[in-house]
Amino acid sequence: MIDFDCPKCGEGMSVPDCLAGRSETCPACGNVDVVPWPSVQAQAMSVAGSQAPPAWAQPASPSPRRSPSRQPGRREIVCPNPHCGYVGKPIRRARGSLALGCLLTILVFPIGLIYLLFTGGYRYYCPVCKMQIART
Ligand SMILES: [Zn+2]
Ligand SMILES: [Zn+2]
Repeated sequence: MIDFDCPKCGEGMSVPDCLAGRSETCPACGNVDVVPWPSVQAQAMSVAGSQAPPAWAQPASPSPRRSPSRQPGRREIVCPNPHCGYVGKPIRRARGSLALGCLLTILVFPIGLIYLLFTGGYRYYCPVCKMQIART
C-alpha cells in the first residue's frame, strides 16, 4: 500500500501499490491526485535519513581527558606535570654532597653541621619528564 497525503486538504490516503502514478480521487475533498511511486518515496526517505542521522545514533567519541586510573603506592609518586601524568617510583637524588658535609663538619664544625641540616634528605624527580617532585 502507498500512503500519501492529499495536497489540497491534507487527508491521508492509502491506495494499493498498483495505482502508483495514476490519478486517485480524494475521498474527503474530491480532489484528483496523482499517487506517488513508493520506490521514489522510500529512496527520498533513505537519503534524508543518511543526511541527518539522529544524534543518539552517532558513536560516542572517547573522552580526550584521561583520568588517573591507578592510585600511587606507598613509594610511588604522581608527576605534577599534567602533560606527563607519570605514576610510579621516582628518581631519588641526595640533595647535597654528604662527603662535602662531613668534610665541612670536620674542618669548620658549625658550618658543616648547618650544611648537613639544610641539605639533608633527598630530591625526587619524575623519570619521564625529569620534573622535580615536591615531597617532604
Ligand atoms: Zn483531499
Ligand atoms: Zn613527569
